Amino acid sequence: MVVVLRADAEREPARGRLTVLRFRTEVRIGFPTETIVGVLQAAALWSLRSGVDVEIVSVNDGAEALLPTSLHGYDLAIDLVTMGDQAFQLAALHLFLWKSLPASFTVQLEGDHVHVEANGRTGRAARPR
Ligand SMILES: [Zn+2]
Repeated sequence: MVVVLRADAEREPARGRLTVLRFRTEVRIGFPTETIVGVLQAAALWSLRSGVDVEIVSVNDGAEALLPTSLHGYDLAIDLVTMGDQAFQLAALHLFLWKSLPASFTVQLEGDHVHVEANGRTGRAARPR
């Protein structure tokens, strides 16, 4: 699977600024899935356009990764915040990711962070024999 951002997300970036993605020290990535890489690319594009740094606060770590129902434990979910904790900037990041990532991604504003996961699978997993 290749993550392709929609055309409306690829506007002219602000000139003279480097994109900044930050990672909390406790963040762990078991395997850099295309889901994670695609979200990082979209977040970097938003950061470049907005001038606001984005911090990755969780991937495959923390209590949520241990839950059997969470995709964090499979490197298929990622939590992000905007540096400075401005609610309108977090809302703008949420809207951008929701608009620019493929429809198979779930993008939710969960209070103080944006949660993104790839839930494009449908149907039930085959039972092991
Ligand atoms: Zn999450």
